[in-house]
Order: sequence, then C-alpha cells, then structure tokens
Amino acid sequence: MPVKLTLGSSISLIPSIGRVYQKRLENIGIKLVSDLVYYFPFRYEDLSNQKQISDTDVGETITLQATLWQITKIRTKTGKTLIKALVNDSSGSIDVIWFNQTYLLTILKANQLINLSGKIGLFGNRKTVINPKFELIRDSLAIPIHTQRLVPVYSEVGGLTNKFLRSKIYQLLFKDKVVIKDFLPEAVLKNEHLISLEAALKQIHFPDQAELAQQSRERLAFDELLLLQLVNLKQKFMSKHRAKALIFKLEKNQIEEFMTKLPFKLTNSQKNAILEIIADLKRSTPMNRLLQGEVGSGKTVVSCFPILACIKNGYQAAILAPTEILAKQHFNTINAFLSKNYKVVLHTGSTKAKTSKFDVIVGTHALLNKKIVIERLGLVVIDEQQRFGVIQRSILKNQNVRPHFLTMTATPIPRTLALTFYGNLDISVLDEIPSGRKTVKTYLVPKAKRDSAYQFIKKEINKGGQAFIICPLIEISETLTSVKSAKAEYDRLKDHIFPEFKLDLLHGKLNSKSKDQVIANFKSGQTKILVSTPVVEVGIDISGATIMVIEAAERFGLASLHQLRGRVGRNEKQGYCLLFTENQNQNSQERLKLMERYNNGLALSEMDLKKRGPGELYGTAQSGQFNLKLASSSNLDLIIRARSTAEKLFETGLKKELEAKLIEFNQDLVIQD
Ligand code: ADP
Ligand code: MG
Repeated sequence: MPVKLTLGSSISLIPSIGRVYQKRLENIGIKLVSDLVYYFPFRYEDLSNQKQISDTDVGETITLQATLWQITKIRTKTGKTLIKALVNDSSGSIDVIWFNQTYLLTILKANQLINLSGKIGLFGNRKTVINPKFELIRDSLAIPIHTQRLVPVYSEVGGLTNKFLRSKIYQLLFKDKVVIKDFLPEAVLKNEHLISLEAALKQIHFPDQAELAQQSRERLAFDELLLLQLVNLKQKFMSKHRAKALIFKLEKNQIEEFMTKLPFKLTNSQKNAILEIIADLKRSTPMNRLLQGEVGSGKTVVSCFPILACIKNGYQAAILAPTEILAKQHFNTINAFLSKNYKVVLHTGSTKAKTSKFDVIVGTHALLNKKIVIERLGLVVIDEQQRFGVIQRSILKNQNVRPHFLTMTATPIPRTLALTFYGNLDISVLDEIPSGRKTVKTYLVPKAKRDSAYQFIKKEINKGGQAFIICPLIEISETLTSVKSAKAEYDRLKDHIFPEFKLDLLHGKLNSKSKDQVIANFKSGQTKILVSTPVVEVGIDISGATIMVIEAAERFGLASLHQLRGRVGRNEKQGYCLLFTENQNQNSQERLKLMERYNNGLALSEMDLKKRGPGELYGTAQSGQFNLKLASSSNLDLIIRARSTAEKLFETGLKKELEAKLIEFNQDLVIQD
C-alpha cells in the first residue's frame, strides 16, 4: 500500500524522486513535503494561447498540440547543427526548429503527441515554430503542466530544473494527493474572504487563471503575517509571565544630575524615551525595547541612561555595533559621557578586551564569541543591526539570567509594520532632531537643468563644500554590474564634468583597506566628490559634505533617500540634496516631490508604505530577520487584517491545529541562526 503523504512527510517518501534529486533538494533546505510545496514560483509564463496550426500567424506566441511526424538533425550552410521537425494536427502541418539541442533526438520520436509552446517565425521563408518549449502528452486526457497554461517558473538553484520542480510539485498536489488540512478556522476564511489552504497551494503553483494565483498569494501571505503576529503575541505574553528580571533603579535626581552634566540639552523625545526605558528596568520582566530614531536624533546618549542604571546597580552592560568604526565611536562617546569612575573596554576583531572586570564592554560581533563570558550581564544594547533577533537568541543561549535588551535603529518603521514584525517589542521613537541643525534643502532636478545643477555643485565646492554622487540602485546587493556602472559614471564625471576637482570612487567590492583610504581622503577634504554605489551608505560620517546627488532616485524608497540625504548638512553648513530621475511618469515625479516637502523619515516611510507597499521598504530587511516568502510583497491592508485576526484568535484561545502550525512556524524562524 502506498504511504499516505502529509505535509510533514520526508521527501524521501515521495515516489520516484531519486537519490540525486533528493540530495539536491536537501542541499537547499527542502527536507519535507511541505518545504517543496511551499517552494513557490516567482512568476508565471503565459503559454495558454492554444491554437490550431492553420490559425497561427508569424510573430505570435502560441501553444500547439500536435503529432510529431518526423525529426532530424540538419546542418545549415553556415555550419550550425539544428534539430528540425515536422508536426501536424487536424488543421495542417508546420515546421519546428531547435538550435543547439541535439539531445532532443533521443527524447522526441515520431508519432508522439506533444505540446509545443513558442513563437512563430520564418525559417527559410516557411512558417516555423522557433525553439519552442515542449511537453510530451502521453494521452489526450493528460493535463499539461509545462505548456498550454499559466506555467509556474521557479528559481532553478542547486541543479534543480523547472521541469523537475513542476512535475514533482504537481505529482504531490494532484496525484499523490498530499493531505492538506487547513489550520485556519472556517470563520476566519469566511470573514477574510480567503480561499482554503489546499486550493491556495494548488493554485499558486498551477493557477487556472491569473486571478486565482493572486488569491492564493493573498491567502498564503495572510498565513505568514498571522503566524508571525501570533508568535509575537505569545512571546510577549510569556515574557510578561515568566522571565524574572533584574531590577535596576535610577532615581529621578540621579537622572537629572546626569542630564545636567551633558554638554547639550536633551530634546523632549530623548527625555521621554529615557523615562520609558528607565521605567522598564524597574519592572518584574526584562526590557525588550526598540529605540527608533533618525540618523542624528541622538540615540547613543539615550542608551547611556540605562547603561548607567545597570552599572550603578552592580551589573555589566554590553554594546554591540555593526562595524569596528562604529564600535570605536561608541567606545569614545560612552567613555566621555560616563564619569571616570567606570571602566569601559573595547572588544572587536582586532582589539581584544584584556579583562573581564569592566562595567561596560563595547564591541562588534566578536563579542558573541562563546569565549567571552560576561558574569554579571545586565543590559545589552544592540545598535543598527538588521538581524537583532538572531543576535538576541545567540546571547540568551550563553546566559543564565535574562538581561535587558535595548535595540536601536535609524530605519524608520511605520507603526503598522512595527507591530507586525516587532510585535514582541515595546517601541520608543525619537522624532526630533536636536535644535540648531539646518534641514537639508532638497530639489527634484528637471532633466533640462542637469547642467545648471553641475554648475551649482562647482560653486559649492569652490566655497569649500564636498559632494556625494550616488549611482543608481541596480540590484539590492552589490554586484559587478553596479560596480561597473559606478565606475563608468565616475570616469564620465572626472573626465568631462569636473576635470578641475579630485574625484574618488567608493563601492562595496573594494577591500576594507582601500575603503578606509577612500573615506579618509574624503574626510580630510582632499577628495571633493565621492562617486559611490548605494550600498555603502551606512556608517559614513563626513562633516564637510554639503551636497548629496542621487541618480535614478525613483529606484529608491523614500526612507532610503531620506537616509542618504541625512549624510549631508551635519554641521552648521547648509546641506543640499539633488534628486535626478529620467522617469517622467507622473506618479514617480509626485512621489519624489514628497522629498522636497517632508523632512521626517517616519512620515516619508509611511507615505511610501501607502504608495508602494511594504515589499519595497522591508523586503530585504525582513528576509534577513524572518523567513517570510510572500508577506513582504503584500499590501498594507492585508497586514492590518492579519493583525486584527491574530489578536482576536489569541484572545479567544488557539485551536489545536493552529497551535501545532505555530510551533512549526516558530521553529522555522529559529532555524535562521
Ligand atoms: P544617532 O541617533 O544617529 O545614533 P548619535 O547618538 O550619534 O545619533 O548623535 C549624533 C550627534 O548628536 C552626536 O554628536 C551627539 O553627541 C549629538 N547629540 C545628541 N543629542 C543631542 C542634543 N539633544 N543636542 C545636541 N546634540 C546632540
Ligand atoms: Mg547611532
């Protein structure tokens, strides 16, 4: 008797999968039937335009079902080999050719019924199907999966082919009939107008219509968002009821005394955040708070208050920064802020802390090394790290007592998203910039004004300014293509536009020594214009830079543009941000115009969220943090619906199936580290 496959079955139980393919699947993390069924196509190829041979016209893309009449290898006059076939259906016959695919001779045989999908062209003046995709049709009732429909296209990694993936996934869903139980209550499906899990999984792979693929995506994205929020709700609930906290007290007069010692007056939002944080430290559960505030809003000094509370109560604090440069900067800042009574040490890849008797340790990832023992760890401050959830887990593994966590980020996260992705955290926001700084003047430069913009830059540089020129965002992570285009732009500017100034080029593929050198030369004012790819934006702090030029600005999210703009005008000098775009589309122009009017990162990212959806904003950031496949491209409305459903379900108690699904989902999250 054949085994009844469920989503939880191992892929080794799938009939006729073969050792080689099993290994390939396992190599990319597909171990269970569910992993394979949840390996979604990233697009569909529309091969549904089925025609009779006599109805086809040159230039159109069609699918034919025909019988193979004959197939041969021929040589062209230019010496190329090609496979030529003749096929017919009840309406007539047509030639077919394939280039460079001699192996077809061993697969395709006369008299076979096949589907051909491709473009009709002319070959030797005859109507011919050129290089079509084909699919053998075993009998006229067989349902085609590679042709004659919306065909799913998968990412072909690790030696997996589209044909293999399609066949196996089809087999699982439609032939082996894997048991798919819906874990969502009937009432939720009804209220939210969602299709069943089984329908969604079938239709996301093999949609009967585009509309159904869309509905499937919506259902499955809803699942991700819902589960994530349930995990968050649960974690929050549990930590409130379980973990015992270290209680740190910092009295009002101590807070005020420390405030008066600072060289500046704190903004109101800094004060509020400090009070929220200090209140957390007195509770019976450990703090888990996100401090969100724009670049320059003064997060570091805020973190000094809980650090002070921690060390005054006899515990040690750790601060984790993403790079050595930032770690050193924090080390210096904190040393300056805290009185000389406390011992602050630095620990990075190249500078090791020599003692375990310290009050504060500042470092990079090197701190996570198992050999670093912090006996009395009371507080961890995590600065600007995308994957802070992973870092937290890794710290907790080595710790008996749960420390307080403060995570700081300059990424503006709209409240709706924050509640979804960081629902287990409390959030404080710094929405003020210390007074005295000028806002950066921003202009969307019309195409015709590019030359005058360059003249303006020259004038500014002659007055002592410096400029960043950011090349277009080509791909999310830096590739050779981005580097090449930055290099080309650098050459053009250097030779033709700004021959009188010293320019330099910065990109992520430079080794760290060259990078440091490029940045040092720019910092010292020797280099006047720094041409750079977008990915190096983080962590560069150049006080003399007054101009930020961004090419192909439409490719960036508003929040990223705002971050880039935050690089200039950091002292009393007026900063300028010039946005260039070739895109005359009205929507895109309007969106960029928002940059001229608004100077608040959070407001901008909320507007972006409404206009472009969370994928643009959070697609990459979140893929590092959570294993979400569909949710990041879903819309705001769905996020809100999933959240309110999660809250309702949680209040009334989770049913068995959902509880089980949640455990599984949570394990997937943990696999990330
Ligand atoms: P970020 O929030 O980007 O981490 P920092 O903490 O690095 O910002 O602070 C940026 C600069 O502003 C630092 O030089 C800091 O000393 C200064 N700063 C912080 N708070 C204030 C304030 N209230 N008034 C004036 N300067 C401040
Ligand atoms: Mg900072």
